[in-house]
Amino acid sequence: MNNTLSQPASTPTLSTHSEERTEIVALGWQDLCGITRVRGLPLKDLEAKAATGLGFPACGQALTVSGGIAPNRWGPIDDVRQIPALDTLVRVPRIGDYPGLNVVLADSIDGQGQAFACCTRSLFKDALRRLSDTTGLEFAASFEHEFTLSKPGFQPELCMTLDALQALGALPSVLVTALDRAGIVCEAFEPEFGSGQYELSVGHDWGVAAADKAVLTREIIRDVSRHFGYRASFCPKIAPSAAGNGAHIHFSLRDKNGNPVLFDPARPNALSALGGSFAAGVIRHINSIMCFASSTPVGYMRIGPGKWSSGYNAFGLANREAVLRICDLQMTPEPKRQRSYNLEFRAADNAGNPYLVLAMIVRAGLQGIVEKLQSPPSISVDPAKLDEAERMRHGIKPLPSSLDEALQHLDRDEVARSWLPDALYETFVTLKRKEISATDGLTPEDLCARYARIF
Ligand code: GLU
Ligand code: MG
Repeated sequence: MNNTLSQPASTPTLSTHSEERTEIVALGWQDLCGITRVRGLPLKDLEAKAATGLGFPACGQALTVSGGIAPNRWGPIDDVRQIPALDTLVRVPRIGDYPGLNVVLADSIDGQGQAFACCTRSLFKDALRRLSDTTGLEFAASFEHEFTLSKPGFQPELCMTLDALQALGALPSVLVTALDRAGIVCEAFEPEFGSGQYELSVGHDWGVAAADKAVLTREIIRDVSRHFGYRASFCPKIAPSAAGNGAHIHFSLRDKNGNPVLFDPARPNALSALGGSFAAGVIRHINSIMCFASSTPVGYMRIGPGKWSSGYNAFGLANREAVLRICDLQMTPEPKRQRSYNLEFRAADNAGNPYLVLAMIVRAGLQGIVEKLQSPPSISVDPAKLDEAERMRHGIKPLPSSLDEALQHLDRDEVARSWLPDALYETFVTLKRKEISATDGLTPEDLCARYARIF
């Protein structure tokens, strides 16, 4: 990301923003449901605003996905200050006809100048700090963003073909350029398996930037698609029969000297003892992480066996039905193999808040390290193909089948709940319960359609 207000040096061949107009920057933050809320500011005032930020009602944390506000502990009382984190500023210049955009992300602080209990960016930073204070480790993550493009008259081509790529005209190239200008590395943009479905994978980032860039990538995908007349939907299921839209999260850890620590060629699957402990913590708390990874009622139409999204709490090398997959480029010479070795969390989608799900993964993994848990058993077959007794023997259980079930798991998991400030937990659960009741009686088609309009 570009951390100064000057244009990135790498854009001389592209025309810059109009100088006659006052440029606007969107000051953005992720609400608890994973929607980026913004307010526009004159870009020239941004630095001056950075010290004290802008006031915002605390009850804004209870905004619902459908435009209302859920009951909350603040009501009309109390303000937070939204402080622009200047190192998140991205300035995407005009690219051809695409007008570009400026976005900066905010941290929220309370009246005492402390991180606000519902600021999810602060929550993730706190989880990273605890990881580093306890173990000396740093955490990196990258996302595979799946989404579906639609526009009136658009007839998707066959999946995974050149036709499906070329049908979008200049969209992919403008999108990749826009991401590049935002400091986001696009590793691949591809027509995915679903009709009209595409996937954009980004390079990894260390620390809080991983979640910041996930937010910015989503918004840049939406904005460039809008410019080309498409709607990009990240809804986990846009129709009951459609392929799911996931947001798989690849992550790794390194020590203070920058050495990767998940890899140990002397151990099974080349997974270090420490990596095994981290994975075991995530698997132990997976059911409590699920309401953040798959945070909407419709998300559970995507989760389940046979959908490549994961249906069980399984762990395995190159296993796309496992919730946690070991990714090891075995044919790659070291040290590249060691550096690229990572774990992939497959249950997440993009209809939720990336700071929340990453904070929960880091806290669960840290718990596993602190307790020196043994690696979960590695499963090398589709867990759905094992018989019940074998699954029991390996401790493999189905993931929650609904948001309600996922919330009940979190409610019962005192350890995982202790990772969340009370105000955040209470507001999140109220919001999600309200969402669940708003979908009562909807047909699966209507449920998908409802969420395809929102995400
Ligand atoms: N679309 C699948 C999901 O919902 C993932 C397919 C893949 O492995 O890329 O997670
Ligand atoms: Mg994919």
